[in-house]
Amino acid sequence: MAFDYDLFVIGGGSGGVRAARVAAAEGAKVALAEDDRYGGTCVIRGCVPKKLMVFASEYPGHIADAQSYGWDVTAGDFDWTAFRTKLHAELDRLEGVYRSILKNNSVETFDARATIADAHTVELSTGERFTAKHILVATGGRPVKPDLPGSEHALVSDDMFHFDKLPGSILIIGGGYIASEFAGILNGLGVDVTQYYRGAQILRGFDEEARGLIADEMIAGGIDLHLGTNIVSMEPVEGGYKVKATNGSENVFEQVMFATGRSPNTSGMGLEEVGVKLGRKGEIVVDGYSQTNVPSIYAIGDVTDRVNLTPVAIREGMAFVETVFKGNPTQVDHDLIPTAIFTQPEFGTVGLSEEDAAKQEKIEVYATSFKPMQQSFAGRADRVLMKLIVSQESRKVLGCHIVAPGAGEMIQLAGIAVKMGATKEDFDRTVAVHPTMSEELVTMKVPVRSA
Ligand code: NDP
Repeated sequence: MAFDYDLFVIGGGSGGVRAARVAAAEGAKVALAEDDRYGGTCVIRGCVPKKLMVFASEYPGHIADAQSYGWDVTAGDFDWTAFRTKLHAELDRLEGVYRSILKNNSVETFDARATIADAHTVELSTGERFTAKHILVATGGRPVKPDLPGSEHALVSDDMFHFDKLPGSILIIGGGYIASEFAGILNGLGVDVTQYYRGAQILRGFDEEARGLIADEMIAGGIDLHLGTNIVSMEPVEGGYKVKATNGSENVFEQVMFATGRSPNTSGMGLEEVGVKLGRKGEIVVDGYSQTNVPSIYAIGDVTDRVNLTPVAIREGMAFVETVFKGNPTQVDHDLIPTAIFTQPEFGTVGLSEEDAAKQEKIEVYATSFKPMQQSFAGRADRVLMKLIVSQESRKVLGCHIVAPGAGEMIQLAGIAVKMGATKEDFDRTVAVHPTMSEELVTMKVPVRSA
């Protein structure tokens, strides 16, 4: 049977665009449909604008430090409108780059919503129908809010880039990546930030010592963080929203933002109707090759809820093309993925937390926490953490956790060593780069504890 396309990709985010481009470069006839902006969550309403906001929010600290270093400078006011205008111009530019990547690789694009009509047919919101030998679903996810009185008034992370003016105060609900990153960003931009997290410590699942230090520093930096606290209800009042909390308090905040997790974009797409198996959260269930139980339909990225990170979606897209279009069955290795959380202070992490490693085997913990030179000279009390988790038996470094300015940059490099299976002794025989913060990773001689 002749199909209109070899591949129809649904979703123009990082994963979908990469798969479409690489498949087309292999000579496949490829189409892609996107009903929103090209670039997807990461480029349009996630990683990229978030990180630019992190940069913007860090300048008051840099300026205060500059004064301590003898510079005669003062911060003045932050012009949100000027920043936002520039931010959106940059996002427009990047969206253009994504569109031209597809065009230059002869991928046919449709600015339309796509649904799956059968195992080989895609139907667009324009009414057009196309057949394809393979369909790749890369529709990502979206923020979800819990259903509680008044939550329809609350913002989500998508809204953080569109304020007409920055609020005077905001309540952020959640203790994950997004809640904790935006708490730091908005605090740095001068917004009065309160954060409620229902659990005992933010960033659940990560190394406890690192989480503890990040939370302490966030509080020291001015964020009013309430652990073991959740929202009960909210209602509009003069000047914002009155929020009732589980601790019995009632406070008014100008804005409320829920960062309470994300949900895969699978509803209303015809997936279940054609027999594609979905998981408990609505995610598409795939095998190691990103293939669903309907052999012609594959899925990559956040919609599969494996490891929800842009570079992982890109790898899944590449592996899909290797498997389907290059005859080289390739699974993505989801083990030992380094990642950065752009909290303030920044967190870079790879491998197992101390707690998870200790459950698995006997370990040694090497850790040091200190005031880094640059900030210490400026009179700041900020501390950084360098931590290695080492297997007693194999001597391999099982985990590396860095809380420090630039931790994201550092963990990319440490991640290579950990991924290669470096031992503690491999770290030790590497000469320190002096004077840096990360030199501590190769100079910690004595474990602080064994478990
Ligand atoms: P997470 O799943 O990381 O965190 C959700 C948070 O909301 C948790 O603290 C959770 O608490 C809490 N929560 C969930 N439901 C409720 C509820 N009903 N009431 C109160 N609190 C609730 O989601 P995020 O939205 O922060 O991020 C989504 C994903 O996006 C991340 O997993 C990550 O993969 C990706 N991401 C990555 C970034 C990076 O790489 N730097 C940056 C931003 C996002 P509990 O812990 O108790 O479940």
